[in-house]
Amino acid sequence: MTFDLVVIGSGPGGYKAAITAAHLGAKVALIEKDQAGGTCLNQGCIPKKTLLHLASLIENCNDLQSHGLVGAARGDFNAAMRHKNEVVAGIRDNFSVWLKRLGVQIFLGEGRLVDSHNVEVAPSRFANPVTRAEEDLLVSDARTIETRRIIIATGSTPKNLPQCPVDGRIVLNSRDFMFNLDRLPETVLCVGGGAIGVELGYFLHQFGARVRIVEKSERLLNQARISERASNMLERKFRRIGIAVDKELTVTEVRAGAESAEASFSDGTTGQYDCVLVAVGRQPMTEGLGLEHLGIVTTVDGFVHTSEYLETSVPDVYAIGDVKPGPMTANAALHDAKIAAANAVKGNHLHSNYFKVPVVINSALEIAAVGLTEEQAEEAGFESDVARSNLGGSGKARAHHDTEGFIEVVHDAETGQLLGGCIVGPEAGEQIHMMAAACQSSRGLWFFKDMNYSHPSWCEELETAIDPYTAAFAKSEKTIFRPGILAEYE
Ligand code: FAD
Repeated sequence: MTFDLVVIGSGPGGYKAAITAAHLGAKVALIEKDQAGGTCLNQGCIPKKTLLHLASLIENCNDLQSHGLVGAARGDFNAAMRHKNEVVAGIRDNFSVWLKRLGVQIFLGEGRLVDSHNVEVAPSRFANPVTRAEEDLLVSDARTIETRRIIIATGSTPKNLPQCPVDGRIVLNSRDFMFNLDRLPETVLCVGGGAIGVELGYFLHQFGARVRIVEKSERLLNQARISERASNMLERKFRRIGIAVDKELTVTEVRAGAESAEASFSDGTTGQYDCVLVAVGRQPMTEGLGLEHLGIVTTVDGFVHTSEYLETSVPDVYAIGDVKPGPMTANAALHDAKIAAANAVKGNHLHSNYFKVPVVINSALEIAAVGLTEEQAEEAGFESDVARSNLGGSGKARAHHDTEGFIEVVHDAETGQLLGGCIVGPEAGEQIHMMAAACQSSRGLWFFKDMNYSHPSWCEELETAIDPYTAAFAKSEKTIFRPGILAEYE
């Protein structure tokens, strides 16, 4: 059997790469050793978003008590988890049929690189077919597939913390949370205040658990591209609604008992919790792939090193998504997939550019960012300035009784070129696409002035934020032009 492209891993990176290559006319095979759809569909974005939608509905309904709604909303944890399973299963049911229809041949088995043009697929002990269509795809005998190019899209697994050994029962990682948590714990310790900690911690709080988040750094969401102001606003809201947050504190030991776990902290205190959620990041999944045997270079942390074309150190072998360095999000994996698939099929011609890829957090506040933060813009040599607007002035926010949030638009003070931005508030994860489009436009700040907005809307606040800056440019003597920046005076 000879293919143009073999993709190993069927998460968002893998399936998007397979589809992109198939659309370009390539003969494509996709190998999956565990659950089709990867982390994103089975234990990440989709189940999480399903649960968080319920969590924010509870909050929104209860916030409108005595403002026209009557009767408190409250969550039913077991029903919510069942609903989440049904949503995932509904997507899974069609997954292989959909890919097959697009001309992608799927193998449910474990992939291993024999060399840069041959991949072995062996029966996998993890393979977990859920439909008749998937059962037919199970690999029962090892075989070798010949191919012109290979894309490694094997994703990542939760990172372990030696002092908090996960037992899948009381001390959980995010995978256990999605698959094993069968009752609402009364008290929860979230170890780590990154994206997964603040999202799942908020869900548990809204459904009635008492949640404490412990973060070793000086702020929540201490990751590139989320502005400090956004982190601080989320922390203030957590405290207000009753989620405890401790920063610059580490967990030194967790001992799981029969019903609960005792945790010790770096300040000498201890605490007892029904559940400990270890959410300290993720590590690349490369075990058994045969990377060393091919001489594929990895970083000290084990991520597969790639060029800007997403090709590994071995020609014709590419790597995308969580398994390589870069943002560990489905958005980034989807972005990589389009680049690597086009390069693998047509020859290297597209570069990866994470500047365009948004990051979104769904928690007690929705937070989204794209492009550069103010600090990153300065480091990159821009004379950066930030246009701001608070949701307090938004008609839509007032109508929704939900005015907590803001918009920050990072731009170059000299030229009005848009460099990035952060949005906090309802639908931030949707609004950010407008910011992303604007950042790629040659109109700079004027992109937001050119638009006509429906009223009242969330997006009209983008224009409110930048108005004083376009007005100042209009009055100034500045000539706003440099290659790629074609903004005009108003
Ligand atoms: P994965 O989705 O991890 O898929 C890799 C696949 O490769 C897996 O199915 C694995 O079984 C398979 N595989 C591995 N080795 C082999 C092998 N040897 N042979 C065959 N198959 C193999 N991101 C967002 O953008 N938005 C969100 O809202 C979001 N929420 C998240 C919530 C949680 C709780 C978690 C854990 C993650 C979340 N993420 C989110 C991150 C997102 O899920 C990942 O970044 C994304 O799934 C990475 O995609 P990928 O294709 O690189 O890998």
